[in-house]
Amino acid sequence: MVKAIYMDDCYVKEFDAVVESVKDDKYVVLNQTAFYPLGGGVAYDTGSILRNGEEFPVAYVGKFDNIISHEVSKTGLKIGDKVVGKINWERRYKLMRLHTTAHLLASIFHSKSNALITGGQIEPERGRMDFSLENFDRQLIDEYCKIANEIVQKDLAVSISYMKREEALKMPDMVKLANKMPPDVGTLRIVEIKGVDRQADGGCHVKSTKEIGTIEILKVENKGKDNRRVYYDAKL
Ligand SMILES: [Zn+2]
Repeated sequence: MVKAIYMDDCYVKEFDAVVESVKDDKYVVLNQTAFYPLGGGVAYDTGSILRNGEEFPVAYVGKFDNIISHEVSKTGLKIGDKVVGKINWERRYKLMRLHTTAHLLASIFHSKSNALITGGQIEPERGRMDFSLENFDRQLIDEYCKIANEIVQKDLAVSISYMKREEALKMPDMVKLANKMPPDVGTLRIVEIKGVDRQADGGCHVKSTKEIGTIEILKVENKGKDNRRVYYDAKL
């Protein structure tokens, strides 16, 4: 079982590990990792794996059969190698800031207009959110963005905790989240923006809303009431 360090601590930038397997000389599995694999609509981490100072750049990280695999662009790593993993923190931190932004915007869109979030994508350059909404205009989106930035300024705590599925099913505001999870998921990982939003989520987030910076709407696209799209960024 590969331990995913980022599940409990999103701020680990460097970690010790042991190589568990190497496939085709480039797909490396470690006994534990802080690298986030592509998933949940969020881009993967990059960085490097170091063995006695020798660098093996990590070009891609994915999850295959539930195992996190690092694609390195240099051959030579062997099973049993003691290594240090180093995350490209600039990229990861931006993804974290945009991911928390996504939860915040989704929560505001939903509570203010009952919009249904239908999709999204987070890349280091920008985030995208798709939703269905009856009334749609740029002014409204800008208004929601303003509300989001007011919440950012309150510096609310963003926490990660775990809850048993049975427990979640007893709480009115958690039932929907619990029911959305596949039946084999016994424990939910909850990401909460204090007093604003709670989601079952497996991704990386900042610890407090102020770390987001300033949310900006880059572009809105209107392709019919079931296909609205907003592109956003978070600037420091
Ligand atoms: Zn999320």
